Amino acid sequence: MVVRVHVLSNFATGQTHLGKAVFAARPFKKGDVVTQFTGPLIHKSKLPKKYEGTRDRYVQIGPEHFLGPSGDIDDLINHSCNPNTGLSFTTFGIILVAIKDIDIGKEITWDYSTTLFENSWKMKCDCREVDCRKIITDFALLEEKVQRKYLKLNVIPPYIKAYLKSKAYPVYTKGVHRLKKYAEKK
Ligand SMILES: [Zn+2]
Repeated sequence: MVVRVHVLSNFATGQTHLGKAVFAARPFKKGDVVTQFTGPLIHKSKLPKKYEGTRDRYVQIGPEHFLGPSGDIDDLINHSCNPNTGLSFTTFGIILVAIKDIDIGKEITWDYSTTLFENSWKMKCDCREVDCRKIITDFALLEEKVQRKYLKLNVIPPYIKAYLKSKAYPVYTKGVHRLKKYAEKK
């Protein structure tokens, strides 16, 4: 008897100039669910004092709460300033959704700044996209057109959506100049 076994996988892991990375093992269409983000819920007071860049995967999901590393594929998905996925906050969980068509073999990325809010965490970016911001930091410090792009794609958490609608919003956007200065210094 001949038994054919097909192993279906959505992902392959590999290396880029930045280290471990996740690649599409099948094509994804814009709007497809790519994976779900899991991991333990952690209060900000319990975060490690010092992040070690890409090895620490803490995803901010609320003003006070983060998802810790899950030990699964979601820990390994890298940041890009021109990502092909984004996080969607749904009633059934935090899911990673394709924001453009993704071909087999393409690296899967999302923009870490889309969930960071009032957070002092910073990381240098070397994603090598033409529009690379050179630094990954708070959502409030992104250029307004970038913020609006992510709002339109619906890949920002509810607490950041609320911030975009709040009176404090124009005050926060002044931070963009501070960010530019910081990036130029590097
Ligand atoms: Zn970048």
